[in-house]
Amino acid sequence: MQDLSPAKTWRLQKYRYRLLGSVCTNCQSNYYPYKAFCTKCLKENSIKEYEFKPFGKILSWTVINVAPKGFEKFTPYIVALVRLSEGPIILSQICDTTEDKLKTGLKVKAVFRKLAATDDTEIIKYGLKFEPQEL
Ligand SMILES: [Zn+2]
Repeated sequence: MQDLSPAKTWRLQKYRYRLLGSVCTNCQSNYYPYKAFCTKCLKENSIKEYEFKPFGKILSWTVINVAPKGFEKFTPYIVALVRLSEGPIILSQICDTTEDKLKTGLKVKAVFRKLAATDDTEIIKYGLKFEPQEL
């Protein structure tokens, strides 16, 4: 279930509103989401924050017709595995297109959109989705 509590939303906004991950200064491995420790070279104190470029390509996708709480208003919507141009693979919603226009390798870019909303608390959560680079 999606946690829409105001405290958690506020605490994580830095990471949700930007493609903020981390990079190891020793072996240059990059991570999204942020990792505080490099699991590749295991060197201590080698991690620093890194903002990824907002571009990627679709690897695979599916259409969500029965959504979890908070996402009901957005059905049907597309969720895809997106490989960022700098390597990490992330799961994200795809917006401003339809399924028939998608294909493996389609170039997408990150955009700021409404992610979820609940009727009971009236909390709206914003964050990043991806849209095709060429509309
Ligand atoms: Zn490393």
